[in-house]
Amino acid sequence: MANLTDKVAVVTGASRGIGRAIALRLAEGGANMVVTATSQEGADKTAAEIEKLDRQSLAMVLDVSQFDQAERLIKSTLDKFSKLDILVNNAGITRDNLLVRMRQEEWDETIAVNLKGTFNCIRATTKTFMKQKQGKIINITSVVGVVGNAGQANYCASKAGIIGLTKSVAKELAPRNIQVNAVAPGLIKTDMTKDLSEDAEKSLTNAIPSGRIGAPEEVAALVYFLSSEEANYITGQVIHVDGGMVM
Ligand code: NAP
Repeated sequence: MANLTDKVAVVTGASRGIGRAIALRLAEGGANMVVTATSQEGADKTAAEIEKLDRQSLAMVLDVSQFDQAERLIKSTLDKFSKLDILVNNAGITRDNLLVRMRQEEWDETIAVNLKGTFNCIRATTKTFMKQKQGKIINITSVVGVVGNAGQANYCASKAGIIGLTKSVAKELAPRNIQVNAVAPGLIKTDMTKDLSEDAEKSLTNAIPSGRIGAPEEVAALVYFLSSEEANYITGQVIHVDGGMVM
């Protein structure tokens, strides 16, 4: 059984949805946690749940698109815990629109948060991992980063970018005993997908061989495994958690 006792993990965007489920799963597995949100209140809420599991936690406000904030996050983590073992880049947004109507801001914000945000946190963490001669980086991408989706050119481009980033950094860091992987969820029940109309939800569900929408905990289960030493020989991979939606 994978074990994260005494490990320290950072999860970005851990106030709700998939990030919250990942933070709680890693804490259940033994890790002390640094959790972030765009508000202190959001981060504190998950941190309080982690403390109920008898793990230590640090709750931080973070806008991942700002490199100085990513650097501050890692510095605060090291000040509190003196090490960092696992980085989960989960924070993400959608700004959906058809390409002909897509505004510059919709494109820029999505790329800044999803893609540059992932780069920022990896960049801020890597020297620590190299010094420690070990570390795990798990980036949350999406199946639509692999197959594309009408109305989400910005989001799909950001998620495809995360896949290229994951593979490149995996190649650079593998000789240093640092594993870098991406997890690609399909359709998961969270705030991000709550505004789907009944019809849209029905037709999307019809396209899922398993015949249902996934739960955040089902994504968290894979992230937990990839965070553990059981996964030391897995790097540069994109693993789908999607009920067979994309094969
Ligand atoms: P969600 O419920 O909307 O939660 C998004 C999280 O990201 C929140 O914690 C939010 O913090 C945080 N966040 C938003 N903007 C941020 C910023 N600028 N800097 C730092 N944190 C920020 O989303 P979710 O569905 O759990 O998605 C989590 C990840 O999975 C995302 O990367 C998403 O693209 C990916 N994903 C989701 C699905 C799905 O079906 N749900 C499918 C494929 C991939 P606040 O609470 O403070 O706003």
